[in-house]
Parts: sequence; structure tokens; C-alpha cells
Amino acid sequence: MKECLKNILIIGTGGTIAGTGTTGITCHYEPGKLKLNNLIDKIPDIKSLANINYIDMFNIDSCDMSFEKISQISKYINNNIDKYDGFVVTHGTDTLEETAYFLNLVIKTEKPVVLTGAMRPSTSLSNDGCLNLYQAVALASHEESKSKGVLIAFGDSIYSARDVQKTSTYKTNAFNQKDLGCLGFIRDNKIYFYNISNKVHTVNTEFDINNIQKFPKVEIVYFYMNSDIKILKFIAQNSDGIIISCAGCGTVSTDWFEEIKNLVFEKNKIIVFSSKINNGLVNINKKFENNIICANNLSTEKSRILLTLALTKTHDISKIQEFFDKY
Ligand code: ASP
Repeated sequence: MKECLKNILIIGTGGTIAGTGTTGITCHYEPGKLKLNNLIDKIPDIKSLANINYIDMFNIDSCDMSFEKISQISKYINNNIDKYDGFVVTHGTDTLEETAYFLNLVIKTEKPVVLTGAMRPSTSLSNDGCLNLYQAVALASHEESKSKGVLIAFGDSIYSARDVQKTSTYKTNAFNQKDLGCLGFIRDNKIYFYNISNKVHTVNTEFDINNIQKFPKVEIVYFYMNSDIKILKFIAQNSDGIIISCAGCGTVSTDWFEEIKNLVFEKNKIIVFSSKINNGLVNINKKFENNIICANNLSTEKSRILLTLALTKTHDISKIQEFFDKY
């Protein structure tokens, strides 16, 4: 162990970064096959960045990630904060932004926590996992990464867990923050920050993962032209809270509007309006007399994470709206 280097813990969860398939090919592979030691061995230079420790926590496709598994990651980090200077989580890209935002709300440290993954399996030509992991360790070891909330290192860029979104199904620069750009760049192992998220995170949230025994059931309903109202009714009967992925800046058809009024005013359902555009702002609520929560600029999937955690604390609509404006 080198005294001058930071101690970084890499937590493996699977995904394409740990995927294997036909040599040279980017499609037709299985995610979550390699253990972390196989990945780390492919990047000899990583050991000059930090003292590397690792644990293979899961080896899954990130579509099989769950609140219970994210809780396990959160608790592991929270319980081992004193042992390490920073943390890296390797993760499948399909739900990376959801795990990142969840961690951003429940991790209790100012130390860097960085997520990364890959779009190409380890066996493909020009796979991106090695460089992404190398840069994630560089970011987690960097002094300036402290107190910025959970970060994502991907495709030579730095993103905040609050705003990052996957925006390509196959390109290696698969993430961005849409209108908000990114927080910074990474060239080789050099870190360049330019922006910061102003939203409250980590040590300053009121969510304590140790106090959550059971997660409320929050589901997403997608509105589109001619969408069948029966889907909304079914979800309403089978959930504690609903995110409606609306059109535009929070609009739905007349029949959906009437049913939502019924759910809110007659059945006291907790409903959040987000936009299927996942960019821009949903902030108008006048028609519902402040009985609908607006997602602000939070994406539909992240609105579900926040409402799930919010419902472990309160059912008060105005308090939950405050959460959406603050987090
Ligand atoms: N299906 C994979 C996963 O999310 C995709 C990826 O990692 O890029 O685990």
C-alpha cells in the first residue's frame, strides 16, 4: 500500500462493464460475467492512481437492480466511510441514473462516490469500460470531488447523479445532462470541474436508509395520445403514489384530467406530474389547486425514486412538493 495514495473502494454490481461475449463484437454479450479483479487486471495503471480495494457485491444486469439491492450498497458505503477516501460503483448503464440518484439522497458522506459503467462489453473491440473505470478512480481520488454529491464518470465527462440521463442506446458517450450539460471533463486522469449541482444531497438530506423497513409502492404511468384510462385506474388501485409521465410541460387529455381529479380529490391519491420529455420544467399546478406535485426538472424515473423516499417520511403534499423543489 502506498502511503501517499488515496484508498479507494470499488463496489462491483455487474452490467456491460463486466460483460463478456464474442471477441471483437459489441452486441450479443452477457452483462455481469467478469469479477472486478479481472477488470482491474486489465488496467495496470489504475494502481498508480490509488490504493485499490474491491468487493463484488452483485453481478447482475442493472435491469435487475432493486431498492433492496441499492439499500445494501448504501449501507455498505455508510458503514465503511472511515476506511476509505472515496468509492466507485461499477453499474449497468440501463438503470445507472436511478441508482446514482437514490445513493445521492441516502449516502452520508462528503467523500467522493462515483458511478461508472460501459456501453461495450469487455470482450469487444475498443471497449470503453477500462477507461471509464480508470477515470472513475481518478475522479474518486480527486480533492475537488468532495461534497459535490454522487458523481458519474462516463465517456471523458463528469455528471451529477441529480441530473444525469442515459441518452443513447449504443454510443459510448451515452450519458448527458441535456439542457444542463455536464459538471466537467476528464482527460486521461486529469479532472476539470466547471459546474456544480445546487440541489441538496447526501449529508444534508433527511433520508436515513437504516430507518426504512419497507419501500412504498410508487409506479409510473405514461400518458400518450389515446392512452387507455384503465391503465391509470389499475395503477391507482395498486400503488401508494403515482408518477404521471405527462406530455409537454405537464398536460394530459380531458378524460385523464377528469380521472386524475377524481383520484386526487375523492381518493386522496398522491400524484406527481413529470414530463415524458425528461427535459425542461414541470411547475404548473393551478388546475389542481396545489393538490398535485410537480416534478420540477426531475426526470420521470428519478421522480419515482424521490416520491418513494418522500413517502417514508410524510404524506403531506406541500411537504413533498418542497422535497421536489429542494432535491
Ligand atoms: N443491460 C446492461 C445493464 O444495464 C446495459 C449496460 O450496462 O450498458 O446492465
